[in-house]
Amino acid sequence: VALQKRDDVDIEGGWKVGAPVPYAALSKAFSLIEATTKRLEKTTILTSFLLLVIQRSAKNDHTSLLQAVYLCINRLSPDYVGVELGIGESLLIKAIGESTGRSLSVIKADLKKEGDLGLVAMNSKNSQKTLFKPKALTIPFVFSHLRDIALSSGHSSQAKKVSIITKMLAACQDFEAKYIVRSLEGKLRIGNAERSVLVALSQAVVLAERERSNKKWSQDQLAARLEEGAYIIKSVYRQGFSCSRCIARALIILWLNSELPTYDLVIPALLEVGIDGLREKCKLTPGVPLKPMLAKPTKAIGEVLDRFENKRFTCEYKYDGERAQVHMLEDGSVKVFSRNSEDMSKKYPDLVDQLPKCIKESTKSFVFDAEAVAIDRTTGKLMPFQELSRRKRKDVKVEDITVQVSLFAFDLLYLNGEPLLQLPLYKRRELLREHFTIVPGEFNFAKSSDSETTEEIQTFLEESVKDGCEGLMVKMLDTDASFYEPSRRSVNWLKLKKDYLAGVGDSLDLVVVGGYYGKGKRTNVYGAFLLACYDSDSEEFQTICKIGTGFSEEVLQTHYDTLKPLELTKPRGDIKVGGAKPDIWFEPKIVWEVLTADLSLSPIYTAAQGLVEDRGISLRFPRYLRIRDDKSADDATGPEQIAEMYERQALAQPKGKKKKGGD
Ligand code: ATP
Repeated sequence: VALQKRDDVDIEGGWKVGAPVPYAALSKAFSLIEATTKRLEKTTILTSFLLLVIQRSAKNDHTSLLQAVYLCINRLSPDYVGVELGIGESLLIKAIGESTGRSLSVIKADLKKEGDLGLVAMNSKNSQKTLFKPKALTIPFVFSHLRDIALSSGHSSQAKKVSIITKMLAACQDFEAKYIVRSLEGKLRIGNAERSVLVALSQAVVLAERERSNKKWSQDQLAARLEEGAYIIKSVYRQGFSCSRCIARALIILWLNSELPTYDLVIPALLEVGIDGLREKCKLTPGVPLKPMLAKPTKAIGEVLDRFENKRFTCEYKYDGERAQVHMLEDGSVKVFSRNSEDMSKKYPDLVDQLPKCIKESTKSFVFDAEAVAIDRTTGKLMPFQELSRRKRKDVKVEDITVQVSLFAFDLLYLNGEPLLQLPLYKRRELLREHFTIVPGEFNFAKSSDSETTEEIQTFLEESVKDGCEGLMVKMLDTDASFYEPSRRSVNWLKLKKDYLAGVGDSLDLVVVGGYYGKGKRTNVYGAFLLACYDSDSEEFQTICKIGTGFSEEVLQTHYDTLKPLELTKPRGDIKVGGAKPDIWFEPKIVWEVLTADLSLSPIYTAAQGLVEDRGISLRFPRYLRIRDDKSADDATGPEQIAEMYERQALAQPKGKKKKGGD
């Protein structure tokens, strides 16, 4: 509440009620956020800004807040629409040159010195003498031009992009050029990830509601209201938020992360019906992918039995393919989404074509969760993931497809107008089997066995491996805890992979943050890489190991091609480096799946620092498995999981044999 009284947060700059939001206000807020390292302060500044946007928007104007939020997270649309920025350096240098009259070589020299093109653009603009003041930039203007740039394609698109950027830069004042250029690059670098934006958004909405209500709430009333909301959400979702005062935050995070993850619908709903009405208004909707439920790893069948003691559970084959969330809208159109909410309908036109055959007449609209697996249709044999990854990702034509795919459905989340997330799994499974039909080689239900004893599970596990699967998924079947938990890595879903049983443990998904130049045969590519895990609480990448094993020459070449455009001369501000010294840094974007022999404490790396000991944890003998292009950097393994793996391993070893000092 005190945030409104802060007088150092002057982000108003001539902003009138009902007028478009000045871009100067947003860029001022960004610069204040960038100037502090304190998370609370960052959120406070953003809350103040978003509150002003709400207060000064005309009645029924949802767009101002929507566009402001998109610019804060540097996106222009929901993930599944895929309108992306990420303009190359050379194009931006050209536009900066054209709008400021500076030569490209001078701009390049500045960039080398500063390591930040945004800063170079701002300094270039501010050192330029202008005769008259340009017309002030507004958020709608910037947003729509950024969209035009992201959407322009074709042979003349480069020139078109340069011309739009030049036009925008020409109108920039103060900090504006810095953030416009950074937005265009696809990285704002203010240390304010999406979670913090959500917190600020929820606080701004609650504060605006309080202001609008006739009764003025005291601090206690506000707290009580937050508590009341927490109760609603807990009773409906039974998710036990640890921070019960943060109801607004919990609510919005819940919807945006899970059931209806699109600002396009949540923000208008928030402004229209407020926090209270959000639950009714924002339900799972076919066409909007929800974040999938994930599983916890287990190392032994005994662990499964301990966890599910006296509860009914089911074991399903863990297919080795790609997650596919399949939606059918009321109008009969079909969409296939990836684990990361990307629209994969164009990658799988064959699945879209196959689908009508497996739908019963009573089925009008649905969302089901499935694994798409490569299959040999003549023998019916399942093929490993590597086979599936041979398929093209874009513009696939059905007639060109050589790798056939079958869907194995394991959950039903929506049927004929009704979300089913809160039904127990056995009921959802029943409905799935009732409303769909098996088409051999094209559509089937995940094979399952409601086993109970170690022997039964062991036999089913062996069978799954023989049939070409990775192991089993073990799921709670009929208690309260068996409802579908979008976006959660839940203890009610356990994965039991054959690899774990050999004592290796789960693989890790890590972000490539640095590279080491190759030697000998590897001189023209990177020979080794620095990896990091991602801490979603502190929103930072923590270094974990150097990896140089498991790559073929061909793979190294592919990695070089992918990573070269992401090179940075300095580590990005949100990388907690420790003692790692790679030759070059990368924009943290690419995720790899990695196996390790074991984990050790390390004086060099920063992963999970402070969770087990002051030192970080490192991987010993890490081995590259594959690229995870279905995961984004903030889906990478977190420090808690790493600490958990380390501690489990320490428990499994005889006393005094803890491994130390690995690289
Ligand atoms: P990984 O795929 O490496 O195990 P992940 O982080 O992608 O990890 P997890 O939750 O760990 O996801 O494992 C579940 C994944 O296994 C799902 O995302 C899905 O793609 C796949 N899968 C295969 N068969 C099933 C099944 N029967 N039920 C649920 N998920 C399944």
